[in-house]
Amino acid sequence: MAWYYGTYACGHEGRVNIIGPHSSRQWIADRKFEGLCPECYQKELEIEREAINDEFLVDASTGIIKAMRLIGLGTTFSIQLKKAIEKQKNTAFDESLYDKAITRVYGNYSTNDMIKYADIIYKGV
Ligand SMILES: [Zn+2]
Repeated sequence: MAWYYGTYACGHEGRVNIIGPHSSRQWIADRKFEGLCPECYQKELEIEREAINDEFLVDASTGIIKAMRLIGLGTTFSIQLKKAIEKQKNTAFDESLYDKAITRVYGNYSTNDMIKYADIIYKGV
């Protein structure tokens, strides 16, 4: 067990207590300092949690996602979904790709299937 001092990716100084073989301690410490300090990590989690409660709306005329409500979904899934939506928001809207995706969905699932599936997701089963 030994304390290693360093600077986290956020710029804050700190120390980490590393246990285990001497040969790997510095490597483990270096990996720890590649991330955010504990305080900044907590702040980032809080920001993500608040962001999850943001509401998103889809502009029906362009298909561009403006906002979406993520309340009721699991945290990990919500974060992944939010990142995917933000990535999609930053790419140009491709109407033919959108039409193909919608056609594929409607071709594979009946309206009743989609309602059942949405119900399962909503209930978190
Ligand atoms: Zn920090």
